[in-house]
Amino acid sequence: MSNQETDSLTGQCLCGDVSFSFAREDLKSVDACHCGQCRQWSGNYWASVNISFDALKFTSDGTFTWYRASNYARRGFCSKCGSSLFWHADKLDDHKDRVAVALGSLNGPTGLALTEHIFVADKGDYYDIADGLPQKQKY
Ligand SMILES: [Zn+2]
Ligand SMILES: [Zn+2]
Repeated sequence: MSNQETDSLTGQCLCGDVSFSFAREDLKSVDACHCGQCRQWSGNYWASVNISFDALKFTSDGTFTWYRASNYARRGFCSKCGSSLFWHADKLDDHKDRVAVALGSLNGPTGLALTEHIFVADKGDYYDIADGLPQKQKY
């Protein structure tokens, strides 16, 4: 059975030692972030889907690590293979109930589609955004 036929999505890091699932009904926005931190962390711009933090259920987390990326947010990754998995503004009261999950970590088909680009003001100069989706200078 594919993901599209189920009510939940699953994802994992490259080596598979971190894996997780979440309910499809918890999906909020789907965007690509072009900020300097996301580009440095992921190697390019970072595409993610925002879900309720409580909806994220680990099925394997032995090598999972949070990196304190700023005084308001942390980034979750696999300490074995280096996959960039989650962004969580855990120190912001109005954001801490949500977590952004890397679209690239999800097992397809996801049935998801990007809806917008954010922090375009900080994008790299080595690519163009030409898919016609809305572009926000910040968030
Ligand atoms: Zn891994
Ligand atoms: Zn970003």
